[in-house]
Amino acid sequence: MPIVDIHTHTAYTEAAPETFVHYMVANVVGHGGNPTEGLGQEGSAERALASFVAEFSRPERFVAHLDEQGIDYACVLAEIAPVTSGIATNGYVRDFCAHSPRLIPVCTVNPFLHHQPARLLERLVREDGFRGLKLYPTYAYFYPNDRALYPVYAAAEALGIPVQVHTGSSVFQGSRLKYGDPLFLDDVAVDFPDLSILITHGGRPFWYDRAFALCRLHRNVYIDVAGLPPRKLTTYFPELPRLPGKFVFGSDWPGLPNPVRDNVAAIRELPIAAGAIDAILGETATRLYKIAPS
Ligand SMILES: [Zn+2]
Repeated sequence: MPIVDIHTHTAYTEAAPETFVHYMVANVVGHGGNPTEGLGQEGSAERALASFVAEFSRPERFVAHLDEQGIDYACVLAEIAPVTSGIATNGYVRDFCAHSPRLIPVCTVNPFLHHQPARLLERLVREDGFRGLKLYPTYAYFYPNDRALYPVYAAAEALGIPVQVHTGSSVFQGSRLKYGDPLFLDDVAVDFPDLSILITHGGRPFWYDRAFALCRLHRNVYIDVAGLPPRKLTTYFPELPRLPGKFVFGSDWPGLPNPVRDNVAAIRELPIAAGAIDAILGETATRLYKIAPS
């Protein structure tokens, strides 16, 4: 069973707000197994970030990172969130992922910046080969059940691609938590029963119960565990062993405090059945993102 990381970000970001750059300098370079090159010299933090970004803007370097971390496939997420975290355009992610079939491109649309986002999504999937959609409600200030997004959900459902929706808190300044309640996804799950919906971050930190309840109620709802400490999963979701097929592994690289392989190892050590571990680390993702067995 391949190991799939459904949640990675690009190192390269355009138009990043200063607060985002500060976060990256303080928390990414030299953390999470990321290189420390250039750190420790005078005025070095920004230079170290620049060299990290340059290094990991090369897709072959990112694929080597996957090898180092024991990951077979990774979803790479586009992001258009200029208020909070900057822009990784769909075009950038498409070109980055063209380097290797192990990189799965996931596009984004922003209902405030795109005219006819549903048509854009159709083009991105049909012409550019995107295999998933990511939405950022707390970064871009819309409710996940906003009717303006219904054509987007209808298109994703018809195209057969899953949608990852950021829920819960974020470390980035300017994000607004009220848009991050997973309960809004109940409407989407009811109205688009054949759309696979991933509740990213499981509604952290105070909506874990809601996120789990939605997974239990709706066959088309899942939890993307990115950004959650894996050892805590059975604490946050005590009934996880009942629904292991609804939890999908993601790392949130590069913004995690330890190497990705440590998170994989921690999931393997959870007090759950071996089959449940396989489901979380790859089986469900393989089905959702149509990853052919190699
Ligand atoms: Zn993320």
